[in-house]
Amino acid sequence: MRIGQGFDVHKFAGDGPVKLGGISIDCDQGLLAHSDGDVVLHAICDAFLGAIGKGDIGVWFPDTAEEFAGADSARLLETVWAAVKAEEYELANLDVTVICQKPKINPHRAAMQERIATILAVPKSQVNIKATTTEGLGFTGRSEGIASMAAVLLVASNTASS
Ligand SMILES: [Zn+2]
Repeated sequence: MRIGQGFDVHKFAGDGPVKLGGISIDCDQGLLAHSDGDVVLHAICDAFLGAIGKGDIGVWFPDTAEEFAGADSARLLETVWAAVKAEEYELANLDVTVICQKPKINPHRAAMQERIATILAVPKSQVNIKATTTEGLGFTGRSEGIASMAAVLLVASNTASS
């Protein structure tokens, strides 16, 4: 088995919507990023890369690279997931926490779970989305940005079904 964790932050800038967990969510501000700024998918990418010992998202998709400007983070996650599969691991489970004061995450949790499970082609039961505010404290509390954490557990493919 392999465990990995990921963390990402993007700051608010410009107009919404925001992209979170692969879906577009209405928000009065957007997120500043080289890619689409999807902190949830970025944290998941980092958790997977950590689990297989392959560095981090900045190494794989440099924010100086023109080819990743405005990138759909679902494509980045697909690339990382393919690397996990190439190492012959399967997903046991993925647990995500979104930390923000806005937008409200709860109404979108099911759609995010469904979208992420679809990208990975795994059952929804292996993907969990949680959300919390920081009760007005810190940069997320001041609505200066959104943070996300992800934890994954991988199992070797040859033992996944046993
Ligand atoms: Zn990011």
